[in-house]
Amino acid sequence: MKFQPKASHFIDGEYVEDTAGAPIDVVYPATGEIIARLHSATPAIVDRALAAAKDAQKAWEAMTGTERGRVLRRAADIMRDRNHELSVIETHDTGKPIQETTVADATSGADALEYFGGLAPSLTGEHIPLAGGDFAYTIREALGVCVGIGAWNYPTQIACWKGAPALACGNTMVFKPSETTPLSALKVAEILVEAGAPKGVYNVVQGYGDVGAALVTDPRVAKVSLTGSVPTGRKVYAAAAGGMKHVTMELGGKSPMIVFDDADVENAVSGAILGNFYSSGQVCSNGTRVFVQEGIKEAFLTRLAERLAKARIGDPMDPEVSFGPVVSQGQMEIVKGYIAKAVAEGARLVFGGRQLDRAGFYLEPTVFADVTDDMTIAREEIFGPVMSVLDFASEEEVMARANATEFGLAAGVFTRDLSRAHRVVRGFEAGTCYINTYNLAPVEAPFGGSKMSGIGRENSKLAINHYSELKTVYVSMNDVEAPY
Ligand code: NDP
Repeated sequence: MKFQPKASHFIDGEYVEDTAGAPIDVVYPATGEIIARLHSATPAIVDRALAAAKDAQKAWEAMTGTERGRVLRRAADIMRDRNHELSVIETHDTGKPIQETTVADATSGADALEYFGGLAPSLTGEHIPLAGGDFAYTIREALGVCVGIGAWNYPTQIACWKGAPALACGNTMVFKPSETTPLSALKVAEILVEAGAPKGVYNVVQGYGDVGAALVTDPRVAKVSLTGSVPTGRKVYAAAAGGMKHVTMELGGKSPMIVFDDADVENAVSGAILGNFYSSGQVCSNGTRVFVQEGIKEAFLTRLAERLAKARIGDPMDPEVSFGPVVSQGQMEIVKGYIAKAVAEGARLVFGGRQLDRAGFYLEPTVFADVTDDMTIAREEIFGPVMSVLDFASEEEVMARANATEFGLAAGVFTRDLSRAHRVVRGFEAGTCYINTYNLAPVEAPFGGSKMSGIGRENSKLAINHYSELKTVYVSMNDVEAPY
């Protein structure tokens, strides 16, 4: 098989196989054909990976930040050099168009490796002057072994967004990709070793949820970072709490995007397209509830339909194709279920709505108008190419409705009125907000959710706090006074 890796897992600097694990078939979403067969990790493999990470951790932390940073920056260079090869793998793993994977996956992973590689030498504690000449100082220490668990929409990016800050701080990692997209994390591990990472610093094990659960509960693990759905997040958070482990949770959303009458229609339509149909809608921060003010509604819907008609749907390996299949048969059925429910509940289908008559898991980009807050498609995360357009009249009304959700990942506003834009984002109950754009996630800025959408932040200097802890040292310059 064309995309068959050397083995299923990458442990202690090398590929490792154990065919006793349940088979994992990797399916190319554009055709439905099996392109690789891997095996889920057995308990022996999980143990071996955690032991390797544990063994490697102290020596990795003992290296200087400059040395660790150099490894990460070298890995970033290798990823960029191999961008084409990695993008082809990512397209076959996820079905995302090569047009997207070439600019948003290995490149985004390389950005994270470069950014945290650059930060590594400057990670320090501080000196705190105290009364009588006493002082305290803090030492920034690694947490230990970190577990990363990924979703299937951005497998390379997630492997790097978790690995890069973890390794920069002197932790080691065992990463478990989603079993739907297991191929690219192996490449990340390979590249880190080629860049000079000592063996055991970054390990990859494949597996279903049970493997993730075994990793999360192991006493050798100090931290768990999950990208996944809210139900999985709840389980993983609870399991981690048993061992008082640190967590980062990047979970799902049902984010609002508000388009006011005075918005630039073309920009608002572009934002709505990016925030609903990029990666066939399989992006956690998507603005899937598009609130459009009454005065601009018809212009917005007309232009949206015209622009969507230009989407090039087809073979994701064709560089001209801008819209590919969804990730799996299962995901396609879930999305079709939501489309049927929307029709049954009275939403007006204004674009798409059908499965394409061809092999693979292709759905049309789909838009519903006249959606109301109580409809299922306005309340639940669909994770597919379905946009809900909802009407609104006033700012006050739309803010209350935008926030009336358990999720709080992202939110966006399109308006030419600057004060309104800032007032609106101040009012959003969401971790990542956009003014006159949508869904950009540069490594320099914190990314993450509030409410049920997550705990902690990825990217930016803030991520360092989630992969290290401070040891406080009190130093006395005086005699010790005791009461008796
Ligand atoms: P899931 O929650 O189904 O799975 C996420 C990962 O967790 C998978 O690797 C899964 O393994 C694993 N897992 C499942 N059960 C357990 C368990 N009990 N203990 C430990 N690990 C477990 O999400 P999907 O893969 O379906 O991804 C889609 C979801 O991810 C959406 O809700 C989306 O919003 C969210 N997401 C959030 C992002 C963010 O940054 N906020 C970014 C991207 C996606 P397996 O797949 O083998 O079951």
